[in-house]
Amino acid sequence: MKQEQIKTIIEKLGKEYPEARTELIYSSPFELLVATILSAQTTDKQVNRVTAGLFKKYNKPEDFAVLSEKELEKEISSIGLYRNKSRFIIQASKLLIEKYQGFVPDNREELMKLPGVGRKTANVVLACAFKQNAMPVDTHVFRLANRLGLVRSDKVEEVEEQLMKLIPEDRWINFHHSLIAHGRKVCKARAPLCQNCILADDCIYYKKKRGEINDS
Ligand code: SF4
Repeated sequence: MKQEQIKTIIEKLGKEYPEARTELIYSSPFELLVATILSAQTTDKQVNRVTAGLFKKYNKPEDFAVLSEKELEKEISSIGLYRNKSRFIIQASKLLIEKYQGFVPDNREELMKLPGVGRKTANVVLACAFKQNAMPVDTHVFRLANRLGLVRSDKVEEVEEQLMKLIPEDRWINFHHSLIAHGRKVCKARAPLCQNCILADDCIYYKKKRGEINDS
């Protein structure tokens, strides 16, 4: 894809979603870390429903580290994979106390040492809590980047790398949020609303669908 086309996509998304941000509700890096661990394969809305009560009772590593897995499971049982998530959150809390004086580290390498924290979760924490330029690739970013033709890969890490090369660094965070917003609202996984899409003229998937370019 040509630089001009990439610029157009960035500008259109930036205009459409100027205030795009994470929908997870949090008031500290630690709360965001917990919310992001909880959000795997669950909607942000469902996570917010649970954390609204949870964070009133527990909102520091010290609070979670002393819970039993069963106790935390009860609190988060309406969320998918809650048993694993309960274990991860308690173990991560203990590690934060042991190694980081109870603070969430602000670099990817250290974040990824925490149980339940993969590259995407680490990138979300870096981008949203610490305002560091990062490009978290979730299911929406992955799908849209491929459909638009910005990248061509079935591997999350490759998509992240390719996007970081294509998009100016100071736009990474907003671009990431705006792709998610667009994925939720228009470019849905099963039935993208291409006819109402601001990116219809720029999108490889839609051009192929309309037979304007070959499907190769
Ligand atoms: S044109 Fe369709 S496939 Fe392309 S970004 Fe828009 S909704 Fe998604």
